[in-house]
Amino acid sequence: MFFIDFHVDTLLRLYLLKISGDDSESLYQNKGHVDLKRLMESNYLSQMFACYVDLGKESITVSYFNDALAMIELFYKEIEALDDRVALAKSYNDYLNNKEEGKLSAFLTVEEGGILDNDLNRLDILYDKGVRAITLTWNYENSIGFPNYEYKTQHSGLKPFGIETVEKMDDLGIIVDVSHLSDGGFYDVYKYGKRPFIATHSNSRSICNHSRNLTDDMIKKLADKGGITGINFYGGFLQEDEKSTTESMLRHIRHIIKVGGKEVVGIGTDFDGMDGELEIGGAQDMLKLAEAMDKGGFSINEIEAICYRNAENFYKRYWGA
Ligand SMILES: [Zn+2]
Repeated sequence: MFFIDFHVDTLLRLYLLKISGDDSESLYQNKGHVDLKRLMESNYLSQMFACYVDLGKESITVSYFNDALAMIELFYKEIEALDDRVALAKSYNDYLNNKEEGKLSAFLTVEEGGILDNDLNRLDILYDKGVRAITLTWNYENSIGFPNYEYKTQHSGLKPFGIETVEKMDDLGIIVDVSHLSDGGFYDVYKYGKRPFIATHSNSRSICNHSRNLTDDMIKKLADKGGITGINFYGGFLQEDEKSTTESMLRHIRHIIKVGGKEVVGIGTDFDGMDGELEIGGAQDMLKLAEAMDKGGFSINEIEAICYRNAENFYKRYWGA
């Protein structure tokens, strides 16, 4: 089985290790949930690597924006020596070419649109650096809008700069990611956005009532725009007792398909961005999901769709062939 994953926080974990002087781990091989070696051994076709910036902490470099740039530099340095097996992808065509050459496609994303800090020119810089998706908010208010953190700002929409940001991202071809965003912000993306958008790592709120998950109406709206959501493996978003099991993932997948159709669900693990016990303990265990789906009565076509083909089709709808 092949796999595509929309969200991991591996780059921040590695970056923090590096600046603490620990060079024992790398993107190729490390003790976290994800490394390139395991992605390749597990037949991943593509992985989105987020540069996650925490506005609740002081910036690591001179600014939050530079923190993201530093993670991007780290990423480039790490894949340089592996260019026969891994390549940055910046479009659907890049993805297809890499696939043909047997290479893993790595997409760069940013988790925290607050790093733009009211400056649209920064989008051009990120685009030039290869960033192809931005999660508009994390759990803080920023210059774009508001988070859905504990439902505190659930109904707040995008700010004027947020609307400009969505429009410019659509023009450039940087995917708008609504995971973490307030419900009000979600509906503004739906309203103002022209292209398909993504929830890289969000589940169903009907199955697990958590503010980070999508309501049925949001799933329908996402599908309506040709978008997709990635199943998040964090226990707290999967079920009330916060256990991360394949059984609970299947419940979300079934429900999301029922509400939004077969094309609207993929995988966005959130690996290296969570703790707690996991039935699927990292990239090396992904086959367990396919096996659970098989046991759960999914057809081979459906399993392939969830594990990679829906993601592939989303890239195609977004960037075009
Ligand atoms: Zn996140």
